[in-house]
Amino acid sequence: MNRPVVLANQKPALSETCDACSATHFKFLFSKASAAGIEYGIYECSRCGLVQTLPRPTEKELEECYGAHYFQRRTDRGYDNYFSDAMRTQLQKVWDMNLQDVGFFEFEKLCMGGPDARALDVGCASGFFVDYLNRRGWQAEGIELSEAAAGFGIHELGLTIHVQDFLEFQPAKPYDFITLWASIEHLRSPLKAMQKISTMLRPGGMLILSTCRWGLLSRSLGPSWRFLNVPEHLFYFSRANLVELAKQFHLNAVGSVTYGSGFTRFPGMGFLYRTAKSLADRAVKVTGQGDMMVYAFRKEIPG
Ligand SMILES: [Zn+2]
Repeated sequence: MNRPVVLANQKPALSETCDACSATHFKFLFSKASAAGIEYGIYECSRCGLVQTLPRPTEKELEECYGAHYFQRRTDRGYDNYFSDAMRTQLQKVWDMNLQDVGFFEFEKLCMGGPDARALDVGCASGFFVDYLNRRGWQAEGIELSEAAAGFGIHELGLTIHVQDFLEFQPAKPYDFITLWASIEHLRSPLKAMQKISTMLRPGGMLILSTCRWGLLSRSLGPSWRFLNVPEHLFYFSRANLVELAKQFHLNAVGSVTYGSGFTRFPGMGFLYRTAKSLADRAVKVTGQGDMMVYAFRKEIPG
């Protein structure tokens, strides 16, 4: 790998621009090595403050970290066997809580009046959330780049999952509801994705998005922050970054919550750890300092 070594006090020449605001000046924060031993810089845009991984990884570097194994690995970066029942139950609990916290269920009642409430989950992996929505009466579809992950949902769960690049996807009709669960930080261009989402949502439709949150915890922990996964995490949004990005495309924030204290769940965690985790999780939720966030946006109705 012929990458220039990034030193903490030295700013390498960057030819890249900020995806959100097109600025070309960045402030170097720190560097972090990937599992493959490649060093990446974590930079903050000097204009809009969006934190990003630079230089952006090549296609080959990204291909090496995503693959069939990505969904079957136990690390902070992948999943502990994504196909297991335990994982499904755990995911469903998080969705119920997140959806409740951002006011989804009231919106859902309004949608259920029509014959087909249409939903799309972007970066749906094996489609567990698609399945969850179908069970609630939605006509839900997913879109996923990883064939390995989508295959399970298509063949084992009988779901509609489009295996293609989201930016090239042309749906027949607009959706009432779109979700991105921990996906936007993986996308090459969150700006293009947000624009695309806006064109695919009907006026009054809802977008719910979760992502890791750049804030107090990430700033204090730096390279050891649990979500600092290079190179697959390309962007680290603050609340303001996310709200601003959505607003450009007529998506207005209508509900939000932060959660997660930095304590990672693992099998066999002891009583003291569990207690500390539970207290810390509650504290950050109350103070809005969680290192994960969920936002609900509504698309403006013209006129
Ligand atoms: Zn910027």
